[in-house]
This record gives sequence, C-alpha cells and structure tokens, in this order.
Amino acid sequence: MSSALYVLDTSAILSRKINPGSRNFIIPSSVMGEISLGRIARNIQWLQEDLNIREPGAKFLEETSKAAMESGDFNKLSRADMDVLALALEFKATIITDDFAIENVASKLGISFIGADLKEISKVIKWNFRCTGCGRRFSKFSKDCPVCGHSLRRTVKSYNESGNESRP
Ligand SMILES: [Zn+2]
Repeated sequence: MSSALYVLDTSAILSRKINPGSRNFIIPSSVMGEISLGRIARNIQWLQEDLNIREPGAKFLEETSKAAMESGDFNKLSRADMDVLALALEFKATIITDDFAIENVASKLGISFIGADLKEISKVIKWNFRCTGCGRRFSKFSKDCPVCGHSLRRTVKSYNESGNESRP
C-alpha cells in the first residue's frame, strides 16, 4: 500500500484522467473555486464529500510567496496555484501539474512534481489578471496595475471544456 500524497492543480482535475476522490489526493478549496466556473463542476459535485480538501497553513503560504517572488513567478500564479504549492510543501506531497510556473516554484522549494500530459487542458483555460490592490481585472499581463501600482495576480477567467468532446 502506497501512502504517497499528491496535490492536484486545476488542470489535473480538468483533465479527467484522474479520479479526484482518491484518498491520496489533496485539493485546496481555491482549486474547487476555479473548477466551479465550468460544467465539470456538476460532474464532480456528487463526490464532493469524498474529496480531501485542505487549506494550507499561513506559514507555508508565506514561504511559497517568498519563493515565487524570488523566482519571478509570483504574478503568473493564481491564488489556487499558490495553495497547491503551499499544501505540497506542508504535506510533503507531490504536485500533479503541467504548469511551468508551478513547476518552477516547486523546484525552488524542493517539492517534487509530475506532469500528467495535461498541456491540451491548460490551453483551454482563459486567464485574467487581478490587481492585488484595487481588485481591477485585466486581460493582459503587466508588471504593475496601471491604476494603483500594485502587482497583478493571475486568476482563471473561464475555460472551454468542449476541446476534446466534439463528435460528428
Ligand atoms: Zn490596482
């Protein structure tokens, strides 16, 4: 019996290659928030109570933010991405992701990660950038908010799940 723990990011769940109800998987509630933007939310709702949903401790979030700022990836990570990293750090878990920014910060923190060939899924996610100061949303990334000067953070705007499902 393996007791290995994995943290799932949004793209890993969207891939549907993974059964998120497995007890070996930890999911931050912010990832569930990103998932709830799309139709897949209904497909996994029935197993919500089986999901191993955890919140990362403040100490681990802090350490993650620091590493992300040092590596220059802070602005490329959504709140859910940060939670994924912090949970993996806290539980010494492996991250399942194909997101380059997550992989980069994971390396810096000594967290192991595995890809799940999810690149096609990552492509259908549309990203927004949200100001950490005034909360305005932008469709394009810039280093600082043009209105108030605070840094921008990536958030999921929507995703299109029809990519692999079109049938004649
Ligand atoms: Zn702003």
